[in-house]
Amino acid sequence: MNAVRSTLGDGAVSTSPETLLQYGFNRLPTGDVEPGAVAFPGSTEDVQVLVRLANEHGVSLWPTSTGHNLGLGEHSPVREGHVVVHLGKRMNRIIEVNETLGYAVIEPGVTFRQLRQEMADRGDVLMISATSGPPDGGVLGNALDRGAGYTPFFDHFGMLAGMDVVLPDGNLFSPGDGSFEGAKTKYLNKSGFGPMLDGVFSQSNFGIVTRAAIWLMPRPPAIRSFAFTFPEDSDLAEVIELVRPLKQGNVVPTLLKVTSDLYAVGTEETYPYERTGGQVPLPDDLRRELRDKHGVGAWTVSGAFYGPTMEALDSSIERVRAHFEKSGKARYISHEEIEKSEILKIHLDTFSGEPTESELGLLGWRNGGATWFLPATPMLGEEAELQHQVSRRVLNEYGFDYMVEFVCGPRVARGLHIIMFDRSNEEERQRMDDCYAALVQAYDEIGYPIGRAPTDWQERGGERLSQLAQLTGAIKTALDPGGVIAPGKYGISGQ
Ligand SMILES: Cc1cc2nc3c(=O)[nH]c(=O)nc-3n(C[C@H](O)[C@H](O)[C@H](O)COP(=O)(O)OP(=O)(O)OC[C@H]3O[C@@H](n4cnc5c(N)ncnc54)[C@H](O)[C@@H]3O)c2cc1C
Repeated sequence: MNAVRSTLGDGAVSTSPETLLQYGFNRLPTGDVEPGAVAFPGSTEDVQVLVRLANEHGVSLWPTSTGHNLGLGEHSPVREGHVVVHLGKRMNRIIEVNETLGYAVIEPGVTFRQLRQEMADRGDVLMISATSGPPDGGVLGNALDRGAGYTPFFDHFGMLAGMDVVLPDGNLFSPGDGSFEGAKTKYLNKSGFGPMLDGVFSQSNFGIVTRAAIWLMPRPPAIRSFAFTFPEDSDLAEVIELVRPLKQGNVVPTLLKVTSDLYAVGTEETYPYERTGGQVPLPDDLRRELRDKHGVGAWTVSGAFYGPTMEALDSSIERVRAHFEKSGKARYISHEEIEKSEILKIHLDTFSGEPTESELGLLGWRNGGATWFLPATPMLGEEAELQHQVSRRVLNEYGFDYMVEFVCGPRVARGLHIIMFDRSNEEERQRMDDCYAALVQAYDEIGYPIGRAPTDWQERGGERLSQLAQLTGAIKTALDPGGVIAPGKYGISGQ
């Protein structure tokens, strides 16, 4: 690290035990993973220097933007000893906002909160797409891990353009029109000449992104949300069948969420051990009691319309009411009621590009341990129900609660399972890890591969997708023979 200190200055790297402890921390069952050091570059040139020094000294780097990947690894690397490159600490500027063409050029440290504030300061011409996760999460880091939001601009990686990427040899590359020096369309056109290479820089270790544009949509004058509750666990198939045509026909511009009871109430409640005598998962009668207390269903469907005024959206609301109420089971919840409910307001916020801290309440459900299981779910009632059965069975068997939110698009939903556990209990951590493996296995058997993965499942996940691992491994060997950037990330290792 002396070479880094002498080139970039004393403050550019830390190896203090407290720093290593802090950056090694995660919430995953397999435990913290301590880095070898932590570097804080201040510019793209600093990142190039770090990569070149890493090549010279045979060190591996683990880039993070703000390291708020909660339940997916945070700052901690896949393997011990990687040098965490915390880009967001010093590279956190909004470089440019173009309100006419709708984009902002940002550095890795720019957070959802910061970008939202910038839009507000500029008079709310543009709306960001926020996650329901930490407001201090980084827009770039989230996009590069293929995180997503809930507005029509939900596909955060799809909304990135003109990335500046430091390659494993230290050279700079920009995919799309950005590969032409001085291109005026760098931040606008991803589909120019030749293959589209941006994708290879997401969920991968082929480069470190130091800057990019994120596309933003005009903020609609009125945003009117709606929700419907459905009373029984067994209603899921019908709900998914009802939601699909609304997205396929773009009747509703936002994604539609189908939220399970405990995913909803877990944002406000902690696990009532005293009521269960320590037993986990929560028995059905208590689950029912909690959902009644908070006015949510076994499933709660939510979405929002955009328009010139709230009144102009009356007919759209009537249309979805008729659609869901024909089931004879749905209870309508109006925008005004949603605004008043801590739990339901999360949905309104995410449909409006407002970062919110409320959903982070889930992390308090069971003593701090959290991991995500994120398969895709086809928008077919029968298949969603099959996944529901499989997840509930496996989680029950291992003693964990089923907490899920299906975030529905036209063809697939993101089946967001958050699995909470007691991280202070060694036996439970091991059981959680076994449970995750059992879930992956059970989903393999019904034909659904693992999606965006926590760092402790990236190498194991890669082993299951052997064709992908072979090709990405060959690319890695060609681009990064020294394994300088995050070897093992998403199972990509090279030779
Ligand atoms: C209750 C709750 C709700 C959540 N809701 C959502 C949600 O709605 N949507 C969602 O997507 N996530 C959600 N999350 C997950 C997560 O917290 C967010 O995605 C968060 O924004 C990710 O952290 P970050 O933005 O700081 O990214 P980072 O942690 O900085 O980065 C994520 C990963 O991308 C890679 N990376 C980061 N920066 C770079 C770079 N510059 N170059 C190359 N690689 C890089 C790193 O390997 C890192 O591991 C939620 C979490 C919780 C606990």
